[in-house]
Amino acid sequence: MAPSLRSTRGRQPPPGALLAAQAPQRSNALPADDWTGRRVTIMGLGRHGGGLAAARYLARLGARVTISDAADGDTLKESIEQLRDVPIAELKLGGHDEADFRTAEFVVVNPAVRREHRCLQVACQSGARLTSEIELFLRACPARVIGVTGSNGKSTTCSMLAAMFTADGRRAWLGGNIGKSLLGELSQIAANDWVVLELSSFQLAHLSDQAPLPQIAVVTNFTPNHLDWHGHLDDYRRAKRRIVREQSPSGVVVLNPHDAQVAEWSSPASGQTRAAWPLEAIPILAVPGVHNRHNAACAAAAAETAGVGKMAINSALRNFRGLDHRLQFVAEVAGRRFYNDSKSTTPQATIAALAALDGPLWLLSGGHPKDAHFEELARAVVQRARGAGLFGQARESLQTCLQAQRAGFNALATEQLADALDWCWRQSQSGDVILLSPACASYDQFRDFEARGETYCRCVAALR
Ligand code: ADP
Repeated sequence: MAPSLRSTRGRQPPPGALLAAQAPQRSNALPADDWTGRRVTIMGLGRHGGGLAAARYLARLGARVTISDAADGDTLKESIEQLRDVPIAELKLGGHDEADFRTAEFVVVNPAVRREHRCLQVACQSGARLTSEIELFLRACPARVIGVTGSNGKSTTCSMLAAMFTADGRRAWLGGNIGKSLLGELSQIAANDWVVLELSSFQLAHLSDQAPLPQIAVVTNFTPNHLDWHGHLDDYRRAKRRIVREQSPSGVVVLNPHDAQVAEWSSPASGQTRAAWPLEAIPILAVPGVHNRHNAACAAAAAETAGVGKMAINSALRNFRGLDHRLQFVAEVAGRRFYNDSKSTTPQATIAALAALDGPLWLLSGGHPKDAHFEELARAVVQRARGAGLFGQARESLQTCLQAQRAGFNALATEQLADALDWCWRQSQSGDVILLSPACASYDQFRDFEARGETYCRCVAALR
Protein backbone atom coordinates (compact mmCIF):
# COMPACT_ATOMS: atom_id res chain seq x y z
CA MET A 1 0.00 0.00 0.00
CA ALA A 2 1.24 3.49 -0.76
CA PRO A 3 2.35 5.40 2.32
CA SER A 4 -0.26 7.82 3.61
CA LEU A 5 0.71 11.47 3.45
CA ARG A 6 -2.09 12.11 5.91
CA SER A 7 -0.48 10.13 8.68
CA THR A 8 2.57 12.43 8.56
CA ARG A 9 0.58 15.64 8.27
CA GLY A 10 2.45 18.58 9.70
CA ARG A 11 5.87 17.10 8.98
CA GLN A 12 5.16 16.48 5.32
CA PRO A 13 6.95 18.76 2.87
CA PRO A 14 4.71 20.48 0.33
CA PRO A 15 4.19 18.63 -2.98
CA GLY A 16 6.87 20.55 -4.87
CA ALA A 17 9.55 19.75 -2.29
CA LEU A 18 8.59 16.10 -2.27
CA LEU A 19 9.04 15.94 -6.00
CA ALA A 20 12.37 17.66 -5.96
CA ALA A 21 13.62 15.08 -3.49
CA GLN A 22 12.29 12.08 -5.32
CA ALA A 23 12.92 12.80 -8.96
CA PRO A 24 16.46 14.00 -9.44
CA GLN A 25 17.06 12.51 -12.91
CA ARG A 26 14.33 14.14 -14.97
CA SER A 27 13.99 17.81 -15.74
CA ASN A 28 10.44 18.41 -14.69
CA ALA A 29 10.42 22.18 -14.75
CA LEU A 30 7.24 23.38 -16.42
CA PRO A 31 8.04 24.18 -20.05
CA ALA A 32 7.46 27.85 -20.89
CA ASP A 33 5.44 27.30 -24.04
CA ASP A 34 6.69 24.24 -25.89
CA TRP A 35 4.97 21.19 -24.51
CA THR A 36 5.53 19.10 -27.63
CA GLY A 37 5.22 15.43 -26.77
CA ARG A 38 5.27 15.99 -23.00
CA ARG A 39 3.04 13.49 -21.23
CA VAL A 40 0.44 15.25 -19.14
CA THR A 41 -2.37 13.74 -17.11
CA ILE A 42 -5.18 16.09 -16.21
CA MET A 43 -6.58 14.79 -12.96
CA GLY A 44 -10.19 15.96 -12.85
CA LEU A 45 -11.85 17.41 -15.92
CA GLY A 46 -14.60 18.68 -13.64
CA ARG A 47 -17.60 20.81 -14.43
CA HIS A 48 -16.22 24.27 -13.62
CA GLY A 49 -13.99 24.84 -16.63
CA GLY A 50 -10.53 24.64 -15.03
CA GLY A 51 -9.69 21.10 -16.19
CA LEU A 52 -11.13 21.81 -19.59
CA ALA A 53 -9.10 25.01 -19.98
CA ALA A 54 -5.89 23.26 -18.90
CA ALA A 55 -6.50 20.41 -21.36
CA ARG A 56 -7.19 22.83 -24.19
CA TYR A 57 -4.18 25.00 -23.34
CA LEU A 58 -1.68 22.15 -23.05
CA ALA A 59 -2.97 20.19 -26.05
CA ARG A 60 -2.66 23.32 -28.21
CA LEU A 61 0.95 23.69 -27.02
CA GLY A 62 1.70 20.16 -28.19
CA ALA A 63 1.35 18.10 -25.01
CA ARG A 64 0.11 14.53 -25.12
CA VAL A 65 -2.88 14.97 -22.83
CA THR A 66 -4.66 12.22 -20.93
CA ILE A 67 -7.75 13.21 -18.98
CA SER A 68 -8.61 11.14 -15.94
CA ASP A 69 -11.77 11.70 -13.93
CA ALA A 70 -13.56 9.71 -11.25
CA ALA A 71 -16.94 10.90 -12.53
CA ASP A 72 -18.71 9.22 -15.42
CA GLY A 73 -19.52 10.54 -18.87
CA ASP A 74 -23.07 11.49 -17.93
CA THR A 75 -21.97 13.73 -15.08
CA LEU A 76 -19.30 15.35 -17.24
CA LYS A 77 -21.41 15.58 -20.38
CA GLU A 78 -21.17 19.34 -20.78
CA SER A 79 -17.41 19.47 -20.26
CA ILE A 80 -16.85 16.56 -22.65
CA GLU A 81 -18.88 18.26 -25.36
CA GLN A 82 -16.54 21.22 -25.17
CA LEU A 83 -13.54 18.96 -25.75
CA ARG A 84 -14.68 18.14 -29.26
CA ASP A 85 -12.13 20.37 -30.99
CA VAL A 86 -9.28 19.58 -28.56
CA PRO A 87 -6.71 16.93 -29.54
CA ILE A 88 -6.87 14.74 -26.43
CA ALA A 89 -4.82 11.55 -26.45
CA GLU A 90 -7.00 9.66 -23.98
CA LEU A 91 -10.17 10.33 -22.03
CA LYS A 92 -10.49 7.99 -19.04
CA LEU A 93 -13.68 8.38 -17.03
CA GLY A 94 -15.40 6.60 -14.16
CA GLY A 95 -12.24 6.14 -12.06
CA HIS A 96 -8.51 6.81 -12.05
CA ASP A 97 -6.03 4.35 -13.51
CA GLU A 98 -2.68 4.43 -11.66
CA ALA A 99 -0.88 3.75 -14.94
CA ASP A 100 -1.83 7.24 -16.15
CA PHE A 101 0.00 8.68 -13.15
CA ARG A 102 2.99 6.38 -13.30
CA THR A 103 3.78 7.33 -16.87
CA ALA A 104 2.96 11.05 -16.68
CA GLU A 105 5.68 13.69 -16.65
CA PHE A 106 3.22 16.29 -15.36
CA VAL A 107 -0.07 15.98 -13.54
CA VAL A 108 -2.47 18.93 -13.57
CA VAL A 109 -4.41 18.46 -10.36
CA ASN A 110 -7.99 19.67 -10.04
CA PRO A 111 -8.37 21.80 -6.88
CA ALA A 112 -11.06 19.47 -5.54
CA VAL A 113 -8.60 16.54 -5.37
CA ARG A 114 -7.00 16.04 -1.99
CA ARG A 115 -3.22 16.06 -1.97
CA GLU A 116 -3.17 12.70 -0.20
CA HIS A 117 -4.84 11.00 -3.17
CA ARG A 118 -3.22 7.66 -3.94
CA CYS A 119 -2.68 8.53 -7.61
CA LEU A 120 -0.79 11.71 -6.70
CA GLN A 121 1.53 9.64 -4.55
CA VAL A 122 2.08 7.28 -7.47
CA ALA A 123 2.83 10.26 -9.72
CA CYS A 124 5.29 11.75 -7.21
CA GLN A 125 7.06 8.44 -6.71
CA SER A 126 7.42 8.08 -10.47
CA GLY A 127 9.00 11.53 -10.74
CA ALA A 128 6.08 13.46 -12.20
CA ARG A 129 5.70 17.15 -11.47
CA LEU A 130 2.38 18.17 -9.97
CA THR A 131 0.89 21.43 -11.10
CA SER A 132 -2.50 23.06 -11.49
CA GLU A 133 -4.52 25.20 -13.85
CA ILE A 134 -3.86 28.25 -11.64
CA GLU A 135 -0.12 27.61 -11.58
CA LEU A 136 -0.02 27.23 -15.36
CA PHE A 137 -1.82 30.55 -15.62
CA LEU A 138 0.39 32.37 -13.11
CA ARG A 139 3.51 31.20 -14.95
CA ALA A 140 2.31 32.27 -18.37
CA CYS A 141 0.41 35.45 -17.47
CA PRO A 142 2.12 38.57 -18.88
CA ALA A 143 0.04 40.95 -16.74
CA ARG A 144 0.30 41.80 -13.06
CA VAL A 145 -2.05 39.90 -10.82
CA ILE A 146 -4.12 40.78 -7.76
CA GLY A 147 -4.89 37.55 -5.91
CA VAL A 148 -7.81 37.53 -3.49
CA THR A 149 -8.39 34.87 -0.89
CA GLY A 150 -10.24 34.55 2.44
CA SER A 151 -12.92 32.34 3.95
CA ASN A 152 -15.77 34.62 2.81
CA GLY A 153 -16.12 37.57 0.50
CA LYS A 154 -13.64 36.57 -2.22
CA SER A 155 -16.02 36.80 -5.18
CA THR A 156 -17.58 40.02 -3.92
CA THR A 157 -14.18 41.65 -3.35
CA CYS A 158 -12.91 40.48 -6.76
CA SER A 159 -16.01 41.84 -8.48
CA MET A 160 -15.64 45.18 -6.71
CA LEU A 161 -12.01 45.30 -7.86
CA ALA A 162 -12.90 44.53 -11.45
CA ALA A 163 -15.56 47.28 -11.36
CA MET A 164 -12.97 49.76 -10.05
CA PHE A 165 -10.60 49.08 -12.96
CA THR A 166 -13.48 49.42 -15.41
CA ALA A 167 -14.59 52.71 -13.82
CA ASP A 168 -11.03 53.95 -14.30
CA GLY A 169 -11.15 53.06 -17.99
CA ARG A 170 -8.57 50.29 -17.56
CA ARG A 171 -8.66 46.71 -18.67
CA ALA A 172 -8.77 44.04 -16.00
CA TRP A 173 -9.47 40.34 -16.31
CA LEU A 174 -11.54 38.59 -13.65
CA GLY A 175 -11.05 34.87 -13.14
CA GLY A 176 -9.99 31.93 -10.98
CA ASN A 177 -12.28 30.42 -8.37
CA ILE A 178 -15.03 32.87 -9.26
CA GLY A 179 -15.81 30.38 -12.03
CA LYS A 180 -13.68 31.35 -14.99
CA SER A 181 -10.34 30.01 -16.11
CA LEU A 182 -8.26 32.71 -17.81
CA LEU A 183 -5.89 30.23 -19.48
CA GLY A 184 -7.89 30.52 -22.69
CA GLU A 185 -7.60 34.34 -22.65
CA LEU A 186 -3.82 34.44 -22.29
CA SER A 187 -3.23 35.50 -25.88
CA GLN A 188 -5.40 38.60 -25.31
CA ILE A 189 -4.00 39.61 -21.94
CA ALA A 190 -1.49 42.45 -22.34
CA ALA A 191 1.46 43.23 -20.08
CA ASN A 192 -0.09 46.45 -18.80
CA ASP A 193 -3.50 44.91 -18.04
CA TRP A 194 -4.30 43.69 -14.56
CA VAL A 195 -5.73 40.32 -13.63
CA VAL A 196 -8.01 39.90 -10.61
CA LEU A 197 -7.76 36.28 -9.55
CA GLU A 198 -9.95 34.68 -6.90
CA LEU A 199 -8.00 31.95 -5.13
CA SER A 200 -9.57 29.25 -2.98
CA SER A 201 -7.69 27.40 -0.26
CA PHE A 202 -7.68 24.32 -2.50
CA GLN A 203 -6.09 26.25 -5.35
CA LEU A 204 -3.48 27.72 -3.01
CA ALA A 205 -2.78 24.32 -1.45
CA HIS A 206 -1.99 22.90 -4.89
CA LEU A 207 0.49 25.62 -5.86
CA SER A 208 3.99 24.20 -6.00
CA ASP A 209 6.96 25.92 -4.37
CA GLN A 210 8.01 27.25 -7.77
CA ALA A 211 4.70 28.94 -8.55
CA PRO A 212 4.88 32.70 -9.03
CA LEU A 213 2.55 34.53 -6.66
CA PRO A 214 0.30 37.53 -7.34
CA GLN A 215 2.03 40.91 -7.04
CA ILE A 216 -0.80 42.13 -4.83
CA ALA A 217 -2.39 39.73 -2.36
CA VAL A 218 -5.67 40.42 -0.55
CA VAL A 219 -7.00 38.40 2.39
CA THR A 220 -10.57 39.21 3.39
CA ASN A 221 -10.88 37.09 6.55
CA PHE A 222 -10.17 33.69 8.07
CA THR A 223 -12.63 31.39 9.84
CA PRO A 224 -12.75 27.58 9.88
CA ASN A 225 -13.99 26.14 6.58
CA HIS A 226 -13.47 23.11 4.34
CA LEU A 227 -12.18 21.04 7.23
CA ASP A 228 -13.58 17.94 5.52
CA TRP A 229 -10.95 18.57 2.80
CA HIS A 230 -8.08 20.04 4.81
CA GLY A 231 -8.52 17.70 7.78
CA HIS A 232 -7.14 20.24 10.23
CA LEU A 233 -7.50 23.98 10.75
CA ASP A 234 -3.70 24.43 10.57
CA ASP A 235 -3.66 22.94 7.09
CA TYR A 236 -6.45 25.28 5.97
CA ARG A 237 -4.63 28.27 7.49
CA ARG A 238 -1.33 27.24 5.87
CA ALA A 239 -3.05 27.10 2.48
CA LYS A 240 -4.58 30.56 2.90
CA ARG A 241 -1.35 32.05 4.21
CA ARG A 242 0.49 30.76 1.17
CA ILE A 243 -0.67 33.86 -0.72
CA VAL A 244 1.02 36.10 1.87
CA ARG A 245 3.84 34.09 3.36
CA GLU A 246 6.00 33.83 0.31
CA GLN A 247 5.28 37.13 -1.33
CA SER A 248 8.43 38.61 -2.81
CA PRO A 249 9.74 41.69 -0.98
CA SER A 250 8.39 43.81 -3.87
CA GLY A 251 4.87 42.41 -3.42
CA VAL A 252 2.08 44.15 -1.55
CA VAL A 253 -0.37 42.51 0.80
CA VAL A 254 -3.72 43.95 1.85
CA LEU A 255 -5.01 42.34 5.04
CA ASN A 256 -8.43 43.01 6.53
CA PRO A 257 -7.59 44.84 9.79
CA HIS A 258 -11.00 43.91 11.25
CA ASP A 259 -10.11 40.22 11.25
CA ALA A 260 -7.82 39.73 14.25
CA GLN A 261 -6.06 36.68 12.81
CA VAL A 262 -5.55 37.92 9.28
CA ALA A 263 -4.32 41.30 10.52
CA GLU A 264 -1.31 39.46 11.98
CA TRP A 265 -0.32 37.63 8.83
CA SER A 266 2.27 39.97 7.40
CA SER A 267 5.97 39.39 7.98
CA PRO A 268 9.18 41.01 6.71
CA ALA A 269 9.32 38.37 3.94
CA SER A 270 5.76 38.94 2.79
CA GLY A 271 6.40 42.29 1.16
CA GLN A 272 4.89 45.63 1.97
CA THR A 273 1.60 45.66 3.89
CA ARG A 274 -0.95 48.16 2.73
CA ALA A 275 -3.78 49.18 5.05
CA ALA A 276 -7.35 48.59 3.91
CA TRP A 277 -9.29 51.85 3.56
CA PRO A 278 -10.91 53.04 6.79
CA LEU A 279 -14.61 52.18 6.77
CA GLU A 280 -15.52 55.89 7.04
CA ALA A 281 -13.90 56.45 3.65
CA ILE A 282 -16.19 53.92 1.94
CA PRO A 283 -19.21 55.50 0.22
CA ILE A 284 -22.73 54.24 0.90
CA LEU A 285 -23.13 50.88 -0.80
CA ALA A 286 -26.25 49.39 -2.30
CA VAL A 287 -25.24 46.00 -0.87
CA PRO A 288 -26.17 45.52 2.79
CA GLY A 289 -23.97 44.67 5.75
CA VAL A 290 -20.79 45.84 7.42
CA HIS A 291 -19.06 42.77 5.96
CA ASN A 292 -19.52 44.25 2.50
CA ARG A 293 -17.91 47.48 3.72
CA HIS A 294 -14.92 45.40 4.85
CA ASN A 295 -14.77 43.79 1.41
CA ALA A 296 -14.94 47.25 -0.17
CA ALA A 297 -12.19 48.58 2.10
CA CYS A 298 -9.83 45.76 1.03
CA ALA A 299 -10.73 46.11 -2.64
CA ALA A 300 -10.19 49.89 -2.52
CA ALA A 301 -6.70 49.54 -1.03
CA ALA A 302 -5.69 46.91 -3.59
CA ALA A 303 -7.05 48.96 -6.49
CA GLU A 304 -5.29 52.08 -5.27
CA THR A 305 -2.04 50.13 -5.03
CA ALA A 306 -2.54 49.14 -8.66
CA GLY A 307 -2.89 52.81 -9.59
CA VAL A 308 -6.68 53.12 -9.87
CA GLY A 309 -7.82 56.68 -9.06
CA LYS A 310 -9.86 57.46 -5.95
CA MET A 311 -12.75 58.84 -7.98
CA ALA A 312 -13.06 55.63 -9.97
CA ILE A 313 -12.90 53.55 -6.79
CA ASN A 314 -15.69 55.55 -5.17
CA SER A 315 -17.85 55.54 -8.24
CA ALA A 316 -17.46 51.76 -8.69
CA LEU A 317 -18.48 51.21 -5.08
CA ARG A 318 -21.47 53.54 -5.29
CA ASN A 319 -22.69 51.65 -8.36
CA PHE A 320 -21.92 48.15 -7.10
CA ARG A 321 -25.17 46.19 -7.00
CA GLY A 322 -23.82 42.93 -5.57
CA LEU A 323 -23.75 39.43 -6.99
CA ASP A 324 -26.56 36.95 -7.39
CA HIS A 325 -26.96 34.49 -4.49
CA ARG A 326 -25.13 36.81 -2.05
CA LEU A 327 -27.75 38.59 0.03
CA GLN A 328 -29.61 39.18 -3.21
CA PHE A 329 -33.03 40.81 -2.84
CA VAL A 330 -35.47 38.50 -4.64
CA ALA A 331 -38.96 39.97 -4.26
CA GLU A 332 -41.55 41.36 -1.92
CA VAL A 333 -44.63 39.18 -1.64
CA ALA A 334 -47.55 40.12 0.59
CA GLY A 335 -45.33 42.49 2.56
CA ARG A 336 -42.57 39.91 3.14
CA ARG A 337 -39.12 40.67 1.72
CA PHE A 338 -37.27 37.60 0.42
CA TYR A 339 -33.46 37.42 0.21
CA ASN A 340 -31.34 34.77 -1.49
CA ASP A 341 -27.96 34.21 0.17
CA SER A 342 -27.46 30.70 -1.22
CA LYS A 343 -23.71 31.30 -1.58
CA SER A 344 -23.45 31.27 2.21
CA THR A 345 -21.76 27.93 2.75
CA THR A 346 -20.26 28.81 6.13
CA PRO A 347 -21.75 29.71 9.53
CA GLN A 348 -19.78 32.98 9.38
CA ALA A 349 -21.45 34.09 6.16
CA THR A 350 -24.88 33.43 7.68
CA ILE A 351 -23.94 35.32 10.85
CA ALA A 352 -22.96 38.24 8.58
CA ALA A 353 -26.28 37.97 6.73
CA LEU A 354 -28.28 37.99 9.99
CA ALA A 355 -26.50 41.17 11.04
CA ALA A 356 -26.93 42.84 7.65
CA LEU A 357 -30.74 42.82 7.35
CA ASP A 358 -33.28 44.80 9.36
CA GLY A 359 -36.71 43.70 10.55
CA PRO A 360 -38.26 40.52 11.99
CA LEU A 361 -36.56 37.64 10.24
CA TRP A 362 -37.13 33.99 9.33
CA LEU A 363 -34.06 31.98 8.41
CA LEU A 364 -33.71 29.03 6.04
CA SER A 365 -30.51 27.05 6.64
CA GLY A 366 -29.14 23.60 5.93
CA GLY A 367 -27.33 21.43 3.44
CA HIS A 368 -24.05 19.54 3.63
CA PRO A 369 -22.32 20.61 6.86
CA LYS A 370 -18.60 20.30 5.79
CA ASP A 371 -17.55 19.46 9.39
CA ALA A 372 -18.62 22.95 10.49
CA HIS A 373 -19.47 23.91 14.07
CA PHE A 374 -22.84 25.58 14.50
CA GLU A 375 -22.73 26.84 18.13
CA GLU A 376 -21.83 30.46 17.29
CA LEU A 377 -24.35 30.49 14.47
CA ALA A 378 -27.04 29.11 16.76
CA ARG A 379 -26.37 31.92 19.27
CA ALA A 380 -26.83 34.50 16.51
CA VAL A 381 -29.98 32.81 15.19
CA VAL A 382 -31.84 32.61 18.49
CA GLN A 383 -31.04 36.29 19.15
CA ARG A 384 -31.92 37.56 15.72
CA ALA A 385 -34.54 35.31 14.12
CA ARG A 386 -38.21 34.66 14.87
CA GLY A 387 -37.77 31.12 13.66
CA ALA A 388 -35.76 28.87 11.39
CA GLY A 389 -36.70 26.37 8.69
CA LEU A 390 -33.94 23.73 8.54
CA PHE A 391 -33.40 21.39 5.61
CA GLY A 392 -30.89 18.98 4.07
CA GLN A 393 -28.29 16.82 5.80
CA ALA A 394 -27.43 19.34 8.51
CA ARG A 395 -31.02 19.94 9.66
CA GLU A 396 -30.85 17.74 12.76
CA SER A 397 -27.50 19.07 14.00
CA LEU A 398 -28.67 22.63 13.40
CA GLN A 399 -31.87 21.89 15.30
CA THR A 400 -29.89 20.38 18.19
CA CYS A 401 -27.62 23.45 18.41
CA LEU A 402 -30.60 25.83 18.31
CA GLN A 403 -32.42 23.95 21.06
CA ALA A 404 -29.23 23.86 23.14
CA GLN A 405 -29.08 27.66 22.88
CA ARG A 406 -32.75 28.15 23.65
CA ALA A 407 -35.02 25.23 24.39
CA GLY A 408 -38.27 25.56 22.47
CA PHE A 409 -36.85 27.94 19.87
CA ASN A 410 -39.28 28.05 16.95
CA ALA A 411 -37.63 25.82 14.34
CA LEU A 412 -38.73 23.13 11.93
CA ALA A 413 -36.39 20.45 10.58
CA THR A 414 -37.66 19.04 7.30
CA GLU A 415 -35.91 17.43 4.38
CA GLN A 416 -36.70 19.81 1.55
CA LEU A 417 -35.93 23.51 1.19
CA ALA A 418 -39.37 24.08 -0.40
CA ASP A 419 -41.12 22.71 2.71
CA ALA A 420 -38.94 24.77 5.05
CA LEU A 421 -39.78 27.87 3.01
CA ASP A 422 -43.47 27.06 3.06
CA TRP A 423 -43.34 26.77 6.87
CA CYS A 424 -41.58 30.16 7.24
CA TRP A 425 -44.05 31.75 4.84
CA ARG A 426 -47.06 30.54 6.80
CA GLN A 427 -45.61 31.69 10.14
CA SER A 428 -44.47 35.09 8.90
CA GLN A 429 -46.45 38.32 8.59
CA SER A 430 -46.30 41.48 6.54
CA GLY A 431 -43.10 43.42 7.30
CA ASP A 432 -40.98 40.29 7.90
CA VAL A 433 -37.84 39.18 6.06
CA ILE A 434 -37.42 35.60 4.83
CA LEU A 435 -33.77 34.80 4.24
CA LEU A 436 -32.20 31.74 2.62
CA SER A 437 -28.68 31.65 4.07
CA PRO A 438 -27.78 27.96 4.33
CA ALA A 439 -24.41 28.10 6.20
CA CYS A 440 -23.71 24.76 4.49
CA ALA A 441 -22.59 23.44 1.13
CA SER A 442 -25.29 22.60 -1.39
CA TYR A 443 -24.18 19.29 -2.85
CA ASP A 444 -26.24 17.00 -0.63
CA GLN A 445 -29.35 18.05 -2.58
CA PHE A 446 -28.35 20.43 -5.38
CA ARG A 447 -25.84 20.58 -8.22
CA ASP A 448 -24.31 23.73 -6.71
CA PHE A 449 -25.19 26.88 -4.76
CA GLU A 450 -26.64 28.46 -7.90
CA ALA A 451 -29.12 25.61 -8.38
CA ARG A 452 -30.09 25.94 -4.70
CA GLY A 453 -30.62 29.71 -5.05
CA GLU A 454 -32.60 29.27 -8.24
CA THR A 455 -34.86 26.69 -6.57
CA TYR A 456 -35.51 29.18 -3.78
CA CYS A 457 -36.26 32.00 -6.24
CA ARG A 458 -38.69 29.71 -8.11
CA CYS A 459 -40.47 28.81 -4.86
CA VAL A 460 -40.75 32.51 -3.99
CA ALA A 461 -42.14 33.29 -7.44
CA ALA A 462 -44.74 30.54 -6.94
CA LEU A 463 -45.95 32.25 -3.74
CA ARG A 464 -47.09 35.20 -5.81
P1 ADP B 1 -16.58 33.64 -1.43
O1 ADP B 1 -16.19 33.85 -2.85
O2 ADP B 1 -15.43 33.76 -0.47
O3 ADP B 1 -17.42 32.44 -1.20
P2 ADP B 1 -18.72 35.59 -1.78
O4 ADP B 1 -18.40 37.00 -2.03
O5 ADP B 1 -19.17 34.75 -2.92
O6 ADP B 1 -17.49 34.92 -1.04
O7 ADP B 1 -19.82 35.51 -0.63
C1 ADP B 1 -20.16 34.23 -0.08
C2 ADP B 1 -21.05 34.38 1.12
O8 ADP B 1 -20.34 35.08 2.15
C3 ADP B 1 -22.30 35.19 0.87
O9 ADP B 1 -23.28 34.64 1.71
C4 ADP B 1 -21.94 36.58 1.31
O10 ADP B 1 -23.06 37.32 1.71
C5 ADP B 1 -21.00 36.28 2.49
N1 ADP B 1 -19.94 37.27 2.65
C6 ADP B 1 -19.40 38.08 1.72
N2 ADP B 1 -18.40 38.80 2.25
C7 ADP B 1 -18.29 38.43 3.55
C8 ADP B 1 -17.45 38.80 4.63
N3 ADP B 1 -16.49 39.71 4.46
N4 ADP B 1 -17.64 38.20 5.83
C9 ADP B 1 -18.61 37.27 6.00
N5 ADP B 1 -19.45 36.88 5.02
C10 ADP B 1 -19.28 37.43 3.80
